[in-house]
Amino acid sequence: MDKTIYILGAGFSKPANAPIQSEIIDEILKLRGGHFEGKDNIIKGYLDEFEKFLSEDLYIDSKDFKGVALEDVFTPIDRCIIDGISFRSLDNKKLVELREKIYSLIIFAIKEKLSSSTTSKSYVDDFAKYLVDQIRQRMIDKNHDPVAVISTNWDILLDNSIKHAIDNDNHNGVVDYCCYISSLYDDETIKPGLWALGKGKYNVKLLKLHGSMNWLHCPKCQRLFVAFYNKIAEYGIYKNQKCKHCAINFKESKTVSSALRSNLIMPTFLKDLNNFQIKLIWQNASVELSEASKVVFIGYSLPQADYELRQLLSRMIPHEAVIEVVMREAKDETSKKSNAETLKRYKTFFGKRTVKPIAVGVEKYVKSLRHSQSLVLEDTSL
Ligand SMILES: [Zn+2]
Repeated sequence: MDKTIYILGAGFSKPANAPIQSEIIDEILKLRGGHFEGKDNIIKGYLDEFEKFLSEDLYIDSKDFKGVALEDVFTPIDRCIIDGISFRSLDNKKLVELREKIYSLIIFAIKEKLSSSTTSKSYVDDFAKYLVDQIRQRMIDKNHDPVAVISTNWDILLDNSIKHAIDNDNHNGVVDYCCYISSLYDDETIKPGLWALGKGKYNVKLLKLHGSMNWLHCPKCQRLFVAFYNKIAEYGIYKNQKCKHCAINFKESKTVSSALRSNLIMPTFLKDLNNFQIKLIWQNASVELSEASKVVFIGYSLPQADYELRQLLSRMIPHEAVIEVVMREAKDETSKKSNAETLKRYKTFFGKRTVKPIAVGVEKYVKSLRHSQSLVLEDTSL
């Protein structure tokens, strides 16, 4: 049976105004002076600590803050936490706390940027509806498994749209993150994929390789807690949630060892990862890729820094699979040149496989899916 795997990069969320990674620090700094449902002081406190870290520990001049790469903030912090050593003025415990606060700032920054956007997110809803339409038949035929999405993005645009499409379909399916999840806030519609299949429902597979802004995990039992829409900030971050299972099992409501933590992972740090659920997602992504007859990359430039994803693609995609690369619309010389470079990177990487460029932009591509059009453009038209 034919199976299409979609691999999404930052370019997928860009038309909906999501910040790309290099813009996130600037977006964080813009949070100062903002209003956050009466929690302004919490955010202000986090911002003060973050700027103090940039200025005193990383020794950056405040006028250069926004030029700092996110990797250069997290790589030393992650390294010190894993090795149990201190970084400058911060001991290990303080580093873990600081990292949580920066994660919260990232989540707020992405959330703010998306909610202030005036651009249309309807193409994300259309893509979600397309996925649900493809998969629905699974309710009567368990072997029907034509599609899965692998995403490198932290934002939850597609997650929310899929959830919405399923809610509109009488809750007949679930968003399947392909690991074991619990609902953060007793939402009966949040269930693991295997549970859904056992109940005669369908699962829309969305494998988020770098974590997600709507996930919190328990460092003790390794459960992953999930909320949709904007509930994660409301319930997870503001209220400093503890794992409800560990609280009961270990009778430990007063300790912090089961305080839930964010799940955003830097691509450069994946190899040191000891998070069980993320490992499971990578394992499941490798299975999905090995079954692919077609792999469609949307808004992903195949950067060298993503070497963990590159090795996964290299190991698991079958030789006969067709590769399609959805790139931005080739309107002017700059976009043509950038598309040509991206395409060259793909062709070199995928060698003798067929690589088809689709230089129409995400929105037009999604529209073509809904109308079953073929939009492949040859190299010469780029
Ligand atoms: Zn727990």
